[in-house]
Amino acid sequence: LASLDVAAIRAQFPILGTSVNGRPLTYLDSAASTQQPESVIAAVSDYHRLHHANIHRGVYQLSQTSTRMYEEARVVVADFLNAAEPAECLFTRGATESINLVASSWGGGFLNPGDEILISNLEHHSNIVPWQMVAQSRGAVIKVIPIDDAGDIDLDAYRRLLSPRTRMVAVNQVSNALGTINPVGEMIREAHAVGALVLVDGAQWVAHGATDVQALDADFYVFSGHKIYGPTGIGVLYGKRALLDAMPPYQGGGDMIERVTFAETTYAPLPNKFEAGTPYISGAVGLAAAIGWVRSVGLDRIGAHEQRLLCHATERLQAIPGLEIKGTARRKSGALSWVMVDPPIATLDVGAGLDLRGICVRTGHHCCQPLMDRLGVSSTARASVGVYNSLEDVDRLADTLIEMVEEERVKAARSGRGGAGL
Ligand code: PMP
Repeated sequence: LASLDVAAIRAQFPILGTSVNGRPLTYLDSAASTQQPESVIAAVSDYHRLHHANIHRGVYQLSQTSTRMYEEARVVVADFLNAAEPAECLFTRGATESINLVASSWGGGFLNPGDEILISNLEHHSNIVPWQMVAQSRGAVIKVIPIDDAGDIDLDAYRRLLSPRTRMVAVNQVSNALGTINPVGEMIREAHAVGALVLVDGAQWVAHGATDVQALDADFYVFSGHKIYGPTGIGVLYGKRALLDAMPPYQGGGDMIERVTFAETTYAPLPNKFEAGTPYISGAVGLAAAIGWVRSVGLDRIGAHEQRLLCHATERLQAIPGLEIKGTARRKSGALSWVMVDPPIATLDVGAGLDLRGICVRTGHHCCQPLMDRLGVSSTARASVGVYNSLEDVDRLADTLIEMVEEERVKAARSGRGGAGL
């Protein structure tokens, strides 16, 4: 596998040439949102400049062009996920809306009192709250798949939780807070053995490795455009046709109908049934461009590059005395979480201190409060990498953290708080 030419990649991202607080931008927050390359920015801009019109309803050429661009984007997504057909790929506002759509439509339509939904202790709030909402309204029960101290799912406990009462397993493929890669293939096989469906939250996976929804046999698969070098506000819900066909619509409105009278409305076939209203056309165009860009670089090469960065970051941060890494799972992708315990530095201060030096990391609960509770912390600092990060970015982070620890020790010594040996 030829390694990436990081300088050539970086040159395609205009934002990476900017400064923050007088320092060159060191962007280590791709798990929250990736930056966009010129080709994506140009695709969106070209659409707005030359091709924009509302889709589906126009007989004029411009509308037919925008319709074709939107539907071609769907074909790109279907090919990317290896869906059996484009109509199984629905455009949404993002992973959050995709999960809400399934919870509300499938859950609202098919869950019965006493049915069980399994979610893991690693989930993002967007894969917890929609299930709680529908469980409450349908009388279903949520059970939590536990994790071990390293941040790996406890597969034995998962097997014990699975039963004929289990109707849905909703789990992320990669944890946004810890970077754990979950064994979703195995989990899907075991869920299917008891007759349960599985929704895979692929938000933190799709930009880091190849996805094949048919090989996985995922029933539903979701992701967001802005975590794969595309625009915000656009995302995807993949669902098996038989399931989507059987599900009631999520929202009513234009574009999702076949025939409306005041007495009765019949619904359009897939994918329109789930795409009420004028969609985010340029978002879909941008997402397709982003997928094209990622594929042109090569997901294998991106994944291998990011693994090198993650290994280096883990080694460097592990070597900082008083820094505790949270999440040491067997297989990880792209993200590293930590807390500063000795001297104690609040994660908010870590984030603000790094920002002063132009380094962007995320601090807080990462929309994973139940996971933070399990880890016994209220927040962590998280660095996450993308295709454009270099070993120097990681070194800048580690060197700056070492400086911050030193400064804190000096401050503590001055104020007479003892301070580790000074
Ligand atoms: N799931 C995971 C694992 C995520 O990391 C995120 C975004 N942080 C989401 C879901 C929600 O994505 P969005 O905000 O784009 O809807």
